[in-house]
Parts: sequence; C-alpha cells; structure tokens
Amino acid sequence: MNPVRDMLLWASQNRRLRNMVSRGGAFARLARRFVAGEDEEEALAVVRALNERGFAVTLDFLGENTTNLEEARRAQKEYLRLLDFIEENDLNANISVKLTQLGLDLGTDVALNNVLTLVETAHRKNNEVEIDMEASPYVEDTLAIYETLQSRFHNVGIALQAYLFRTPSDVERLMPLAPKIRLVKGAYKEPPEIAHTRRKDIREAFQRLLDRLLSREAASRGVRVAIATHDDVLVDYALARIQSENLSPSSYEFQFLYGVRRELQDRLLARGEPVRLYVPFGTHWYPYLMRRLAEKPSNLMLILTSLVKG
Ligand code: FAD
Repeated sequence: MNPVRDMLLWASQNRRLRNMVSRGGAFARLARRFVAGEDEEEALAVVRALNERGFAVTLDFLGENTTNLEEARRAQKEYLRLLDFIEENDLNANISVKLTQLGLDLGTDVALNNVLTLVETAHRKNNEVEIDMEASPYVEDTLAIYETLQSRFHNVGIALQAYLFRTPSDVERLMPLAPKIRLVKGAYKEPPEIAHTRRKDIREAFQRLLDRLLSREAASRGVRVAIATHDDVLVDYALARIQSENLSPSSYEFQFLYGVRRELQDRLLARGEPVRLYVPFGTHWYPYLMRRLAEKPSNLMLILTSLVKG
C-alpha cells in the first residue's frame, strides 16, 4: 500500500481535476517530461531522432474512455494518418491503441470495428498494432478483441499485466495464436481480491511469467515478448533467461516509456539489445501523466517543484 500512489491514481480518474490541470501551466510543462508533444509534427520529430539513435518506437496518440462515436472515429483517423506517415517516411515505428479510446465504453462492436480497420491497414503496410491493457473491467473484452484480430492478421500485440492473478491463464489462452505479448507490471489501482498489490509479489509474478514467455518452447511456437519494465532486477532477470535459453532477438525486445530510465535504455542499446520506446503525444495527457507520477513516489517532488515555479 502506498498512499501517494493511491492518491495520484485516484486523481488520474477525476474529471474536475483533469479539466483544471489540462488548461496548461505548470502541469503542461511537467507533462513534457513524459509526452513527446501535443501534435503529430512534434511527435514525429521525436520518432526520427530516436530512430537515428537506434531505438524502435511505438506511437501512442493519447486518449481514453471516449464517450461518443465521433471522438472514437477521430482517434481512428489520427492513427490511420500516423500509419501513412510512418510508411512514407520509412520510420521504424508501430502504433499502440487503447480500446476505450476507440469506443469500448460504447460497445465491443464499436471498438472492434475501429481497431479492425487499423489492423488491416497496418497489415497492408507491413506494420503492426499493439493494444494497451487498461483497468480490470476491460480485460476480458480486450482479450476477446485481440483473439479476433490476431487470428486473422497476425500483426497484433497485446499488453498483459503481471499484477493480475488471471494473467498466467490468459498467457496460456493466447499461446496458440503466436501472440506478441508486452509484459508490464500494471498501472491501475486494482483490488487485492484480483491483483497482487505488494511490490515484491508483483515482481515475482512478473518473473514467473518471464519464465514461461522467454523460453525456447514459446519462441518455437512464434511467441514474441516485449519486456516492458524499468525495474533493474527484472531487466537483469530477462537478460539472464535470454542468454540461458539462447533466444534470438527476433523473439523479444525491451520496451521503455519515453522519458523514463534513459540511462538503462542506452545501456541495453549499447549491448546490442533490441529496444523500443513507447512515445505518447496529444493533448489528452492528464491521466497518462498522473499514472506516471504515481509510479515513483519521489515524483511528488516534481509536482511540488513545478507548482512552486508556477
Ligand atoms: P517500477 O518498480 O514501478 O519501477 C522501477 C524503477 O523505474 C523505479 O524505481 C524508478 O526508478 C523507475 N521508474 C518507473 N516508473 C517511473 C516513472 N514514471 N518516473 C520515473 N521513474 C520511474 N501499464 C498498463 O497497465 N497497461 C499498459 O498497456 C502498459 N503499457 C506499458 C508500456 C511500456 C513500454 C511500459 C514500459 C510500461 C507500460 N505500462 C502499462 C506501465 C506499467 O504497468 C508500470 O506501471 C510501469 O512500467 C512502472 O513499473 P516498472 O515495471 O517500470 O517498475
């Protein structure tokens, strides 16, 4: 239990706070630390620079819990433009979507239809789509949509959260689809009935999942794993398994959030490991920023400093 984390995660879902904070000022400047910019042009300049340094990129057009069809279609259109731009400029980048941004709260069929167009388009362009995992009420629908997409196109990745008790069985469920799985600890506030809440337990659950996913058997079945953590212990654990199982870089990559643990990103890249950075952009940065701040208690100091500076 961490009261600062709990408070920030509560704040991430509070609409009044979001409206107050998103108007700009100190928080908007703070967001710059984790967000590549508010528009496409700024984001694409960041992608180019990261590609030049050797990083692959996942582009995330910020937004979640869309409340009307028009907004969901706008997000889809933005992603279609990004896929065009990536192709035209020969960038090493894919896209990641949140299904609630594409209309999951309005119906599973709405989200499925919207994401299907993205997956088809990416497939035609020899690109891929990753799907973020959101809070636990969305997990079942997200998995079901993933199964539909991956069984038809084979170019779709999905994030699974190590903190959820259900995740080991979800891994087994997806295994026959030769999935790309982005393994994360989990960023939402979940109840102890369904999720590990202690740091040590979450780390151990992550390690057990790495044992299953980073194995010759899983690789021979076409499973690809994105090790998405900034935790040194887990990165070292993954490196040791990759070595002992003699895995080829085509079956795994390390993933980091833009702006977090840059020295670790550089170190892995310098070792010749495949590293992908998750680069969010857009004006809807408030809930994303609050989740990032919640991940490190000392980030509270960042908030206070930015408020004092005004
Ligand atoms: P932690 O124990 O939280 O962090 C390890 C160390 O990294 C910390 O001690 C600190 O030094 C540093 N660190 C971590 N986070 C921060 C930060 N925000 N600011 C500064 N330093 C930090 N979660 C989901 O629920 N769904 C998703 O789809 C999803 N996608 C993700 C994609 C990527 C590429 C990554 C890297 C994470 C994603 N997450 C997602 C977030 C994830 O669930 C965790 O909340 C987040 O990564 C923090 O956990 P950690 O594994 O880095 O370990």
